[in-house]
Amino acid sequence: MRAATGQIIRSHGRRFIVEAEGQTYGCSTRGKRVDFACGDRVEILIQNKEQAVIEDSLPRSSLLYRQDEWKTKVIAANVSRILFVIAAVPSPSEELLNRCLIAAEAADIDPVILINKADLPETAALVAKLQPYAALGYKMITLSAKQDMTPLLPLLDGETCVFVGQSGMGKSTLTNALLPEANARIGDISEALDSGRHTTTHATLYHLDSLSPGSDLIDSPGLQEFGLKHLQASDLLHYFPEMRPLIGQCRFHNCTHRKEPDCAIKQAAADGRIAAQRLDLLQRLSNELLNQSA
Ligand code: GDP
Ligand code: ZN
Repeated sequence: MRAATGQIIRSHGRRFIVEAEGQTYGCSTRGKRVDFACGDRVEILIQNKEQAVIEDSLPRSSLLYRQDEWKTKVIAANVSRILFVIAAVPSPSEELLNRCLIAAEAADIDPVILINKADLPETAALVAKLQPYAALGYKMITLSAKQDMTPLLPLLDGETCVFVGQSGMGKSTLTNALLPEANARIGDISEALDSGRHTTTHATLYHLDSLSPGSDLIDSPGLQEFGLKHLQASDLLHYFPEMRPLIGQCRFHNCTHRKEPDCAIKQAAADGRIAAQRLDLLQRLSNELLNQSA
């Protein structure tokens, strides 16, 4: 047996595939520890040409969570950029976009709003509708996954990215355009790992070979329901860039920005400096988080 450092390129329940020194190993974990995620850098003990045991994980730069009905699970580690894919058809959810931006802010991951299906005439209206998010400072690009991927490539270079968004927005089309060969390759491995259960927790890291080394894409069906339940209500203002400058300006230091008097956030919304929809989401999230901890 020999120790090595590697990276989890596939997680599937309690089973993992780790890439180390140019080889891949099917891995289980030491003892009961299963809190590892795709993208984690790990220390392994190699047992033979195909198998190793994960001993420990190295510090993470970020962590993304997925929400189960009653449980929050880690799903991807060391992601540096979230690409929120949205399109004019089928009907896009601004609520999900906002939740994604908050998850990204909380995880300290750079979000990009990727407006797909630029070839459709309906897209222009969506681009106009989403301008307020660009005004908040969020990167936004518009492209057609079916026609031209080039606007996306500089945003992937050197980053570990994930696509998130509602179904039908074009995530698989984007992924397949980026990874024509990898899909078939990983398909084989996943079949071998697939126990038929817990499929929504699986995630795979792909190297984007046409870009510079270290350009990776993590794909997981579970990412579509990223979790926010691990957040603290008292931290929420930090995750809304337009509200951040108002931190500390409400009359009550523990203001929940719902019914309290002299709330700087509600005042800013009344003055039109904060969008009504964003205030509404802040209040609902605050409510959800306070109720679950009560
Ligand atoms: P996912 O559910 O987010 O993975 O979405 P898919 O990649 O499966 O795409 C959903 C549908 O949108 C499919 O019928 C795609 O062919 C279509 N689609 C994806 N990208 C584009 C695009 O750029 N333009 C147009 N017109 N359709 C697209
Ligand atoms: Zn307040």
